[in-house]
Amino acid sequence: MEREADVIIVGAGLSGLYAARELKAAGYEPLILEANDRTGGRILTESPLPGIPLEIGAQWIGDTHTRMFRLAAELGVQTYPQFEAGETKYELCGTGVLDQTEFYQRFGDDVASVNRVLATLDTLAATVSAEAPWLAPEAAQWDAITAGAWYDAQGLTPIARTLLEICTVGILAVPTVEVSFLHLLFTIQTCGVGAALFSEAEGGAQTTRFVGGTAQLTDRLAAQLSDQLILDAPVQTIEHSGDSVTVHCRGGRTFRAKRAIVAIAPTLASRILYDPALPGVRDQVTQRMPHGSAMKAFFIYEEPFWREDGFNGQFISDVGPAHMSNDTCIEGREEGVILAFLEGAQARTFHRWDEIKRREALIAQMVRVFGPKAAHPIAYVDGEWTERPWTRGCYNANMGPFVWTTYGHALSAPIGPLHWASTDTATQWSAYMEGAVESAERAVGEVLQSLA
Ligand SMILES: Cc1cc2nc3c(=O)[nH]c(=O)nc-3n(C[C@H](O)[C@H](O)[C@H](O)COP(=O)(O)OP(=O)(O)OC[C@H]3O[C@@H](n4cnc5c(N)ncnc54)[C@H](O)[C@@H]3O)c2cc1C
Repeated sequence: MEREADVIIVGAGLSGLYAARELKAAGYEPLILEANDRTGGRILTESPLPGIPLEIGAQWIGDTHTRMFRLAAELGVQTYPQFEAGETKYELCGTGVLDQTEFYQRFGDDVASVNRVLATLDTLAATVSAEAPWLAPEAAQWDAITAGAWYDAQGLTPIARTLLEICTVGILAVPTVEVSFLHLLFTIQTCGVGAALFSEAEGGAQTTRFVGGTAQLTDRLAAQLSDQLILDAPVQTIEHSGDSVTVHCRGGRTFRAKRAIVAIAPTLASRILYDPALPGVRDQVTQRMPHGSAMKAFFIYEEPFWREDGFNGQFISDVGPAHMSNDTCIEGREEGVILAFLEGAQARTFHRWDEIKRREALIAQMVRVFGPKAAHPIAYVDGEWTERPWTRGCYNANMGPFVWTTYGHALSAPIGPLHWASTDTATQWSAYMEGAVESAERAVGEVLQSLA
């Protein structure tokens, strides 16, 4: 036995680190076992050029992410607003590249119909409890169809349907035919801001960034917990009885505690061997929570030339390779940075390309959309997540048809001394950093109650 603690936490992502901090503050001894050689999980900041931190993982918080604003303030991490001024570019359904003004002139009715559908989604989502989506009055019908099938039935024009698909895949990172309609409504309901989820406007999920990069948060949390954190310790087996857990990591390392919080995504949690085996319903739900696929590709230019031309750095395109982009300039720096998103099918296809070919295809798109000044970035970086063995996809776990109504109740219910965290178990802003913190609060609450 290498070490004993009160509570073992599996995973040093945001949820695991936050849980450990809360337990320590409550007077208990946590021990975090992290598989990777770094902390942060789906938060990963890399600097290809000095002073330009880029977010390969999580980047933004939104106005209602109150836990994240509080945490950033407590850790002394400053924030700054996402740049928004200017027009978005559109290229959808063979229109060629259009500026926003022309797009709205020609397709204003299509945009209005998308907004009507978003308003309907808000109304339906309001009947879904984020704590128990399976209890919604129409849960059975909504869980029997995909979000894509429901979208198809709304009588939208090709432009409107395509726009809605791209915006939704931008949240789920899988095609809408892979996700239950109930899951989409749950996702909207966990955010509590309805259609604003789809925008970067006030109330949306992408209004605010962190000075120095998002990993400042997890780095600082980890620094506070350095005596309670072990890296390169992939948990392989958890033996559990009524009042104790014995946790075995790769290399024969063994640790013991009174409780465990497994703060990793459900699909990865199901790869741990539990002894005795967990109830079938728990295993079944974790078998059915696949991660989406997303890649972020960053172009660094000498200056943000698109801003002078009146553009906000955003495009929405069904031509690809990327379907969306953002201005990702670093506050206080003169370089220009654009982030292109490859999500769902785009990520699955283009991550198999070698980086040089992928970069060339993306630069061709940047030139098509933003003009010849986009041809020569001074640096390019992209990041993929399915190849990372301790994440295996992103942004989060999505449920297909019949999963919520059949197995949803087993997702976060404790089993003896085992408790479950990770953003994928959250009921507020599930999939986001805010959700990671919320899930940690819930799991810590359960542990404190059971230890009291
Ligand atoms: C590309 C991308 C963009 C995103 N953008 C945003 C955004 O802009 N805003 C936002 O709010 N959220 C965003 N997210 C989501 C956000 O990153 C997550 O919600 C959050 O970081 C999840 O934290 P977590 O602790 O729940 O899980 P994770 O970060 O997945 O942490 C789990 C940890 O467990 C470790 N682990 C796994 N298996 C084992 C094992 N067997 N033993 C020990 N350790 C193990 C992993 O290495 C990892 O460190 C994004 C994510 C990605 C990938």
